Amino acid sequence: MPSPTAPAVGAALDVLRRVFGYDAFRGFQQEVIEHVAAGGDALVLMPTGGGKSLCYQIPALVRDGVAVVVSPLIALMQDQVDALTAVGARAGFLNSTQDPAARRAVEAAFLAGELDLLYLAPEALGTRSAQQLLDRGRISLFAIDEAHCVSQWGHDFRPDYLALSMLHERWPGVPRIALTATATSATRTEIATRLSLTDARHFVASFDRPNIQYRIVSKREPRKQLLALLRDEHPGDAGIVYCLSRASVDKTAEFLVANGIDALPYHAGLDATTRAANQQRFLRSDGLVMVATIAFGMGIDKPDVRFVAHLDLPKSVEGYYQETGRAGRDGLPSTAWLAYGLQDVVQQRKMIETSEGDLAHRRNLAAHLDAMLALCETVRCRRVQLLDYFGERLDSPCGNCDTCLDPPQSWDGTVAAQKLLSTVFRLDRERNQRFGAGQCVDILLGRRTDKVTQFGHDSLTVFGIGTELGEAEWRGVVRQLLAEGLLAVEGDYGTLALTDASAEVLGRRRTVMMRREPERPARTAKPRGA
Ligand code: ADP
Ligand code: ZN
Repeated sequence: MPSPTAPAVGAALDVLRRVFGYDAFRGFQQEVIEHVAAGGDALVLMPTGGGKSLCYQIPALVRDGVAVVVSPLIALMQDQVDALTAVGARAGFLNSTQDPAARRAVEAAFLAGELDLLYLAPEALGTRSAQQLLDRGRISLFAIDEAHCVSQWGHDFRPDYLALSMLHERWPGVPRIALTATATSATRTEIATRLSLTDARHFVASFDRPNIQYRIVSKREPRKQLLALLRDEHPGDAGIVYCLSRASVDKTAEFLVANGIDALPYHAGLDATTRAANQQRFLRSDGLVMVATIAFGMGIDKPDVRFVAHLDLPKSVEGYYQETGRAGRDGLPSTAWLAYGLQDVVQQRKMIETSEGDLAHRRNLAAHLDAMLALCETVRCRRVQLLDYFGERLDSPCGNCDTCLDPPQSWDGTVAAQKLLSTVFRLDRERNQRFGAGQCVDILLGRRTDKVTQFGHDSLTVFGIGTELGEAEWRGVVRQLLAEGLLAVEGDYGTLALTDASAEVLGRRRTVMMRREPERPARTAKPRGA
C-alpha cells in the first residue's frame, strides 16, 4: 500500500470541497484527516457538532479499500448512509434490522470493493461471520464512533465495545480512529487503554460551546416554569426536554400539548415504530419539542435545536454536557436550562444508596452526582466550572450563563445550617419515626400542622426558631447541605440524617456559604392560585 503523504493533503481539501461542498476545515479536522489518511491511529475528542464525522469520512474516501465504521446507533445508520449517498460516496450498513437480501447485497458490494464506508454495529463485529467477511475484503481503516461507550464507568457503557480491542490484534496493519464527545481525561485514558490505542495521537478540542447559554434554576412548579421558558423565549422553536422517568415524559408531553405546544414523547417504553416515527418527525420538522428520557438523542444531528431543558437532575456532569450539547449545533444562540430542587437530590442519593453493584460502583456514582451538584450550587460562572471539570481553563467568566448575567448572592448560612441540623438531630432520636425535609421545615417555621402536633414536635426547643427564612429558603438550605454531604438521606421515605461532617458545622468548626434563592422571577410563573 503506498504511504500517502503530501498528495493526501491536497486530496483531503479537494474531497472536502468537491464532495462535501465546504470551503475550509474546522478546528483540527485537517490534522486528524492527514494523520489517519497517512495510516496513523487517532483518538479524537470533539464536542457534539464539532465535525467528527468528516475526520473518518474523508480518510475513507482518500484511502484504498473500505472504511469500517463501528457505531452503536443502529437507528441512525440509514440516515448516515443516505447522507453519504447523497454526496456521491458509496456507503452501506449491516445490522440486525436488515432483511437477508439487503444484507447479501451489502456484503457483495463490500467484497467487490464497491463501498467506501461500511457501518457496523459493535455486536455484529463480535460475530464469526462478520469477522470472516471482513477478512475477505480490503479494509482501509476502522472508525470507532461514540468511543466512550467502552467506558465501564460511563453512562453509555456497551459491553460489546470491550471486544473492539481485538480489531488491533486481528487486523494489525489497519489504522484506527476512535471518536467521542465525552471529554474527561479519565474517560480518554480509559478509551485508549481498553481499545489498545496506545500509539494513537490524541486530538483534543476545546469543549466550550459559547453559543449555549447555561441556566440552572430552582425547581418550583417545573412544568409551568418550562412552559414560561418556551412561551417567552422559544416560541415555535425546536427543543428537547429531558425527564427522568417514562411517566413524567408522558405527563409533560401531554401538559405541553394541552397548552398549545407541538410536543411528542420519546422513551424506551414506547414501541419501536412509534419511537422511530417520533424521532423522524423531530428531525424533519421545524418547531417540534421532544420530551424524552436520556434514551433519546445520542447521534441526533439536528442543527437547529434551540433549547435543551432538564426537568430532573442529570446523574453526572458528563451526561449534562452531552445532553445540553445537542442544542445549537448550528452555532446560533441556544439555551440549556435545568430546573433543580431538593427532591432531585433526595431521589438521586436514594437511588445510589439502593443501587445494585459493589461499594466502588456506588462511590463512583456518588462522585459523579457530587460534581453535578457542585455545578448546580456554584456561585461561579457555570461555564468556568463546567470546563474546569473537563480540565479546561477559561480565563474569565463567560458573560453568557445565569451566574454571569444575574450574579447570585452568597450568604453565610452557618447559623441556618446549625438550626436545621439540630432539628434533624432531635428527630433522629425518635428512632422509630421517619421524618423528611417537610417535617423539619414545618418545625423550624413553627407550623402546628397535624403531623407536628401529633408527634409533639411543637414542644421541641427548635420549634419556631427559623422564622427568619421562608419555606423556599429552608428547602434551599436542606438541598445545599445534602449537596455538600453535610446531611444525608436514608431509607425509602427520604429521612434526613446527620453525617460525620455535620458535626463540624454543629461544632462551629465550619462555615457554610450558600447560594441565595432568587425571588421568584415574575415572568417564570404566576403565584399559586392566580
Ligand atoms: P459531530 O459528529 O462531531 O457531532 P458532525 O460530524 O455531525 O458533528 O458535524 C456537525 C455538522 O457540522 C454537520 O452538519 C456537518 O456537515 C458540519 N460540518 C462538519 N465539518 C464542517 C466544515 N469543515 N465546514 C462546514 N460544516 C462542517
Ligand atoms: Zn458565565
